[in-house]
Amino acid sequence: MSSCSKCGKCHSFCPLYRYFLDERHAPRGKVHLLEGYRAKGVGDDDFIETVVWACLQCGACEHLCPSKTEVAEAIRRERSEMGAPYVLREILSRLSHMGKSNTSISRILKGLAVGSGIVSRLFKVTPWGLPEVPRSSFLEEISAQSPLRGKGSTLFFVGCCQNYLFPEIPMKAKRLFGDSLFVPPGQTCCGLPAWSSGLTDLARDLVKKNLDSLSQMEDSPILTLCSSCAYTIKNVWPRLFDEGSSLWRRAVAVSRNLVSMGEFLVKKGPRNAPNVRGVSLHIPCHERHGGETSGLDLKGMARELNWAIEETVDACCGQGGGFASRFSSVSAGIFEGALARLRQSGPKETIVVTNCSGCLLQWKMGTRDKDGYKVCHPIELL
Ligand code: SF4
Ligand code: SF4
Repeated sequence: MSSCSKCGKCHSFCPLYRYFLDERHAPRGKVHLLEGYRAKGVGDDDFIETVVWACLQCGACEHLCPSKTEVAEAIRRERSEMGAPYVLREILSRLSHMGKSNTSISRILKGLAVGSGIVSRLFKVTPWGLPEVPRSSFLEEISAQSPLRGKGSTLFFVGCCQNYLFPEIPMKAKRLFGDSLFVPPGQTCCGLPAWSSGLTDLARDLVKKNLDSLSQMEDSPILTLCSSCAYTIKNVWPRLFDEGSSLWRRAVAVSRNLVSMGEFLVKKGPRNAPNVRGVSLHIPCHERHGGETSGLDLKGMARELNWAIEETVDACCGQGGGFASRFSSVSAGIFEGALARLRQSGPKETIVVTNCSGCLLQWKMGTRDKDGYKVCHPIELL
């Protein structure tokens, strides 16, 4: 039996319930539906499947449920049991192993866009289509410019989304911090998309590669500029291995070495950072629900840097990894809700700043046909 006390508090924080206003999509509803389905075979297979995949894995229920009911975990278990759809499995295993060139990533994504109806229907990166893929990835750029090796004091975990789609973000970090950031070779996707989809074996393989990469300089601080990667390193990596095993010990050690992005950028960034005005913050779910290390969060960073903040949006943007693949209009609808919060204060022009790569993608794509929005990562304002 689950620990759910039926208090209903999850109605206020689950983005899916707030969108559907339907108990069956609330964490409370989901947990009881799944219990009935598994224990007594109650429930229509197709509807249960929809309920299981209609979850953004935002982490709010794991963080805020007063009874600590592990709803997101129950959903991941069920996804694992049902098996992720073939297309999602194929795409994630092809995209997750970093080190591919951007030419081949672009080919994979373009293949999806023009591919067979079923493929393009089953895999959408955002509700508004596919993002532009830059000519080369961050890892391609730096290996062409300078050797990856060169001991630095902080290990830099890039993450696949920034590597392939937003190389300008890690490039700015390399420009600001030079050789004091060491990019250990062999790193790959943090494993969040695979783990969230119930592909635990794939997630574990990716994490093992990352542990080999990040253990090259034991006890060094580790920096990532993506709050979802931070969430995964901190909360997911240790959960993937048997407690007490050597991999578990390494995962725990690495997660403890993670530094706060905000603190790092404020303390080690440029002393004369430009005065920034007209900024709105979007706080990613994975930062609000346990992703950040102790230290400055995005709000704290903006405060320390004296940025003039117009609005702070702490609502889910509807990205959720592969969520738009299946629930494109729901993803767009949840995004519209976040955008409406931004418009509450009525800024006509604003710079939306967020530090999760998935949120950046959603905001960039969701506002690209709208006037007055610039979307960027906080490091781009330094
Ligand atoms: S899942 Fe948690 S927050 Fe939701 S009703 Fe149950 S106990 Fe309350
Ligand atoms: S992880 Fe987020 S979207 Fe999924 S059930 Fe929990 S609160 Fe709702």
